[in-house]
Amino acid sequence: MSKLEIKTIPVAGSHRPVYRVFDGNDAVSAICGTYQFAEMLIDRIEKERLERSFVTRTCMCCKAQFQSEGRHNRLCNDCRKTSLDGWLI
Ligand SMILES: [Zn+2]
Repeated sequence: MSKLEIKTIPVAGSHRPVYRVFDGNDAVSAICGTYQFAEMLIDRIEKERLERSFVTRTCMCCKAQFQSEGRHNRLCNDCRKTSLDGWLI
């Protein structure tokens, strides 16, 4: 995940550009009429990402509570390490 930035998009035939939040080359917001609104969206998107990235889950293996990095992350660090070790042997 790269840092979010607001890009100014010129509008043909208008003196007023529009703004959009980008994550690298990917647009991650709707088109905004004002820079202030785009800044507000950046705050909201960053907050959502933060909340999503630190979800407490129960490990599928040992049932311990741990900080999950996301939907894909269902094993605590210890179990993940063990299963990786097991996979390598
Ligand atoms: Zn576990």
